[in-house]
Amino acid sequence: MITLLLILIIRALRFKPATVKEVEVKEIDFDKDKAIKDFQDMIRCKTISDVDYSKEDEAEFKKIEKLIEERFPNIMKKSKFERVGRRGLLYHIKGKSSDSPSILMSHFDVVSVNEEGWTHNAFDAEIREGEIWGRGTLDTKVTLNGALQAVEHHLEKGFIPKDDIYLAFSGEEETSGSSALEIVDLFIKRGVNPKFVLDEGGAVVSGVFPGVSKPCAAVGIAEKGYFNLRYKVKSTGGHASTPPPQTPIGILSKACAKIEANPMPMHLSEPVQKTFNTLARHSNFLYRLIFANMWFFKGILDKIARKSGGQINAMLRTTIAFTQMQGSKGMNVLPSEASMLSNQRVIIDSSVAETVEYIKKTVNDDRIEYEVISSSEPSRISTTECEGYEALVETINEVYSDAIVAPYLMTACSDSRHYSDLSDKVYRFSPMKLTSGALGLIHGHDERISIENVLNVTEFYIRLVEKL
Ligand SMILES: [Zn+2]
Repeated sequence: MITLLLILIIRALRFKPATVKEVEVKEIDFDKDKAIKDFQDMIRCKTISDVDYSKEDEAEFKKIEKLIEERFPNIMKKSKFERVGRRGLLYHIKGKSSDSPSILMSHFDVVSVNEEGWTHNAFDAEIREGEIWGRGTLDTKVTLNGALQAVEHHLEKGFIPKDDIYLAFSGEEETSGSSALEIVDLFIKRGVNPKFVLDEGGAVVSGVFPGVSKPCAAVGIAEKGYFNLRYKVKSTGGHASTPPPQTPIGILSKACAKIEANPMPMHLSEPVQKTFNTLARHSNFLYRLIFANMWFFKGILDKIARKSGGQINAMLRTTIAFTQMQGSKGMNVLPSEASMLSNQRVIIDSSVAETVEYIKKTVNDDRIEYEVISSSEPSRISTTECEGYEALVETINEVYSDAIVAPYLMTACSDSRHYSDLSDKVYRFSPMKLTSGALGLIHGHDERISIENVLNVTEFYIRLVEKL
């Protein structure tokens, strides 16, 4: 017993942060007024995408394209521009070599707004107390603006990057449109083998990991898979005054309860191991004791995650969330058909098929029919050992010198999942500081961003592009 305790403690004491080499950060200067003004005008374009194309305002999408054309003359002049698919914009900037290009992704569409819930107009881009208000400020016109400002800044000075750079933008990310996928297909067809792909994703956040007080720059190196599952039960229907012993809703409810009581097994995937291995080293002794000895504490972690749900649980297993249920239209009518729907987020190393299999086996009721709707498998895991990732970490350290850079598993989806076929060097990171309050503004009311963030994001891209 004492030996075991000693082993656990010694391992915890040895579990220390890796030493980071001090970097000398050279000063850079850029047109800050332009970065803010262009950004505001991008917000003023109401590029709301909709699965029903007829509801989209074509003029607003034209407006943002025109804005890019006018404000970034060097990009227009010195890059090859192509429209891809319905709403893809692709700019190809030639470097000294075309062998291993970099791809900077973003999307310029936004989700709709309910104006009544907003304190200030959602498309005026007003500045109030150091913040710019508007839909799309955080998600993700700030990275769109940052990438464009950076490339324009360098091209204006006659800079030629080491390798080619592509700016790959989509105007239908929020509706899971195919523009990004079509851009990837084009890259594959042309034999493009990127050394680095960057898309929106994690950010510089504080207070997310227990016991860690420093801010953390979370870089998504993989994302979970996704699918919806519909469950259907048919019956003869009839009047509610003479019901059978079990109704279709009863059958579905039982299935739902079984699944909730039996979550899928915990799996410590490589990206999550990397997160723990990086962040826990900066934590207090208690958490270092736990994370340095996962072989011993795994079971406890599993129990805590099952009980708490939320982010920590989502990192550790495939989650199954019930979102819809439907019976008959009449209050006293037995449904001739009842259905329910669950939304799954599939953990790395598993698959859509494996999850469906697990659900069917757990429910074990052949009166239920299943249908998989809109699925996408978990992404490939990107390497953290390559030139592109190193450039990314270095740039984060330059702009956010106090942040710990940690790879992580994204539990949400982004367009970058399509790039799995093309490369294992795909990273999901929006270089801005986010509080947990700001995270809640994404897709919600009163979305806004600090001017400091707009400038930091621009500076980040300027420093990054120089290294590509
Ligand atoms: Zn987005």
